[in-house]
Amino acid sequence: MTKYVFVTGGVVSGLGKGITASSIALLLKCRGYKVFMQKFDPYFNVDSGTMNPIQHGEVFVTYDGCETDLDLGHYERFIDEELNYSSNITNGKIYKSVIEKERKGDYLGATVQMVPHITNEIKNKIYEAGTSSSADIVITEIGGTVGDIEAEAFIEALRQVQYELGQSNTFFVHCTLVPFIFGSDELKTKPTQNSVKDLRNKGIQPNALVCRAPFDTGIHIKEKLSLFCSIPVSNIIDSIDVNNIYQVPINYHNQRFDEIILNQFNLPLKKSNLKDWEALVKTVDNLKEELEISLVGKYIELHDAYIFVVEALKHAGYKINKKIKINWVDSENLEKESANLKEIFKNSKGIIVPGGFGSRGIEGKIKAINYARVNKIPFLGLCLGMQLAVIEFARNVCNIEDANSTEFNPLCQNPVIDLMADQKAIINMGGTLRLGNYECTLKKNTLAYSDYKQDVILERHRHRYEFNNAYKDILEKNGLVFSGINTKANLVEIVELPTHPHFIASQFHPEFKSRPTRPHPLFLSFIKAANEYETKKK
Ligand code: GLN
Repeated sequence: MTKYVFVTGGVVSGLGKGITASSIALLLKCRGYKVFMQKFDPYFNVDSGTMNPIQHGEVFVTYDGCETDLDLGHYERFIDEELNYSSNITNGKIYKSVIEKERKGDYLGATVQMVPHITNEIKNKIYEAGTSSSADIVITEIGGTVGDIEAEAFIEALRQVQYELGQSNTFFVHCTLVPFIFGSDELKTKPTQNSVKDLRNKGIQPNALVCRAPFDTGIHIKEKLSLFCSIPVSNIIDSIDVNNIYQVPINYHNQRFDEIILNQFNLPLKKSNLKDWEALVKTVDNLKEELEISLVGKYIELHDAYIFVVEALKHAGYKINKKIKINWVDSENLEKESANLKEIFKNSKGIIVPGGFGSRGIEGKIKAINYARVNKIPFLGLCLGMQLAVIEFARNVCNIEDANSTEFNPLCQNPVIDLMADQKAIINMGGTLRLGNYECTLKKNTLAYSDYKQDVILERHRHRYEFNNAYKDILEKNGLVFSGINTKANLVEIVELPTHPHFIASQFHPEFKSRPTRPHPLFLSFIKAANEYETKKK
């Protein structure tokens, strides 16, 4: 039977609940258990697909095409397991499904209510995560903080799960803040006491506390919390501020967090293997030299809007022992007459143009791609980055001056990037992009092939527009190589320029599959090229 760990939060948001949930999952995985993760987001959007990246950060995409909150990206990077549709549950999804069932008449004339209909729907999703993943342990993070109006139904469903499955199958972790007050110079437990009281008012007794504090809370604070919250001292875990987030699971392991959970579940304490993880912590702690990469985007005021790209760059950096320094370039600034690209890119050893939507800042990105191509600076384009690389090449090499995408100019005479026929009829914006895994066949003797060393790859997608095959011949004649093709639908997936030291762009998003201990091949070869470019420059 699947066991469940639930991670709630109290006092304030932003305590690193997601990192705590992923760290627990990692520790249990390293003990030989099959784990799966879930996140409950108490908002009414059905998924994160329509949310503005400047408010919510980059959207994550699972292999089966679910557009989710960026936390799922943290989970996948930590536990190195692919998550799916049942990993991301929102109020929007729950209510939509209940209302659809009501319309179909599934409730047989009953009055549809928060309890039991909404809570049953939530519980079904919890149990479904266990059965569909066949995991030994499912770790679920509940977004927001206890007491938020939107999360009430989730908390009530969890109370029911705790009652239905019992203590030996459920474990509740509550993350709180233990602030240090200057002046009286002490750590304060009251916010935690109140937050646990809130949770108990809703019928849930947490089994462990994770206390975020500037330093270890010490035995006296723990004894006080234990007394007020009815939690054994051993189950009060310190979560001190760290510079390297990969240190968090190690800190929890040192406090026997995994052991405490497995003991409650009556599961054997299989030997823990954290070797790879410890090596990663050491690598990250010892990075010295920097390698600067320019990231050209339009959402740069919130760095989380490009979190997967930045993480993927960092992972590749770990392999060559370099700290990646991002030069954040606002694409709109590049559009100004006065923009001095030489100055902007002067320290950069590589230029990356990631994904994006809408026409703002497009011409600036095209200018950056042109700069990288002409000056032979390593370039990696992702999704929109590939589409713009094609536009730049069509305009400046093939002399198709008005080449564009119909996304930015619907009346364009030379739409080198265009909507696929099946996308033209779509009216709804949510969940209708080309999403999730699609196959791509690689051409031999290309950069793409030498990166992957595989004939067929599977990568995740999130886009509506495609390369227009009507322009394939002319672009090919002028030197662009189409090195990755989805043969089933005849769609271009990767383009590259053999006359350039490193110029490659993909229609898919490789960044979603990068892991700290296993960098993605496209990112690794880009970072290696950037490193060589630096050496040559010296
Ligand atoms: N806006 C482009 C499209 O929809 C690219 C999307 C992206 O970069 N994720 O096709």
